[in-house]
Amino acid sequence: MITGQCTSCGLRLAGKGFTTFKCPACGEGSIGRCEQCRDQAVSYKCDKCGFQGP
Ligand SMILES: [Zn+2]
Ligand SMILES: [Zn+2]
Repeated sequence: MITGQCTSCGLRLAGKGFTTFKCPACGEGSIGRCEQCRDQAVSYKCDKCGFQGP
């Protein structure tokens, strides 16, 4: 089971509707997004390199 936090809103990620992926800029930071933030294209920020993206 994958667990984590939405990088954008801090919601705990569990179950369905969320995605996690590596930061496209540094490849190290782990980005989590909940369904709502994906839906609204809320920007995220990598906590490793500070990259911000949609
Ligand atoms: Zn979120
Ligand atoms: Zn990064």
